[in-house]
Amino acid sequence: NSNLNSQERIINPIERPTVTQDLSENVILTTVDDLYNWSKLSSLWPLLFGTACCFIEFAALIGSRFDFDRFGLIPRSSPRQADLIITAGTITMKMAPQLVRLYEQMPDPKYVIAMGACTITGGMFSVDSPTAVRGVDKLIPVDVYLPGCPPRPEAIIDAIIKLRKKISNDSIQERGQIAQTHRYYSTTHN
Ligand code: SF4
Repeated sequence: NSNLNSQERIINPIERPTVTQDLSENVILTTVDDLYNWSKLSSLWPLLFGTACCFIEFAALIGSRFDFDRFGLIPRSSPRQADLIITAGTITMKMAPQLVRLYEQMPDPKYVIAMGACTITGGMFSVDSPTAVRGVDKLIPVDVYLPGCPPRPEAIIDAIIKLRKKISNDSIQERGQIAQTHRYYSTTHN
């Protein structure tokens, strides 16, 4: 009975909370979430994915000047070893299925930073290009949008810090739902 206060629930042995009641505030689950999130945000491994000029700035970020590794980021060449994809450059219709396939080959939980005007909206190609995708979020779920043409390496670091903050408030349950929605969308629209 939801009208009973917590003291009355303890006194009355017949009254037991349901399994789903206050599940999201369960002490054990939130602690597991915190530990899990802390380990994820401390070792994001980005997939090297560049399709145009934005990638030059991402390549500069990997150099020693910006000390990219201090965030635990280690660039990977295989999607199987990556949990972050920074889409750097214009996405064309021809490239779209490959991008979706790479994303799906990454293990869960996985994150996406959309880097640059071309990736986010189609950029200057959105006016009359028949081949540019008008927004990578039409293909895969985006966590952080990073505008610019191109965004500088410092802006990419800012986007990574924003992603880390987002991950620190993540719940394993919600992440699973995002992955499930993408799988459903991808299987019903391809
Ligand atoms: Fe190139 Fe600018 Fe497009 Fe980035 S946003 S891919 S720098 S044209």
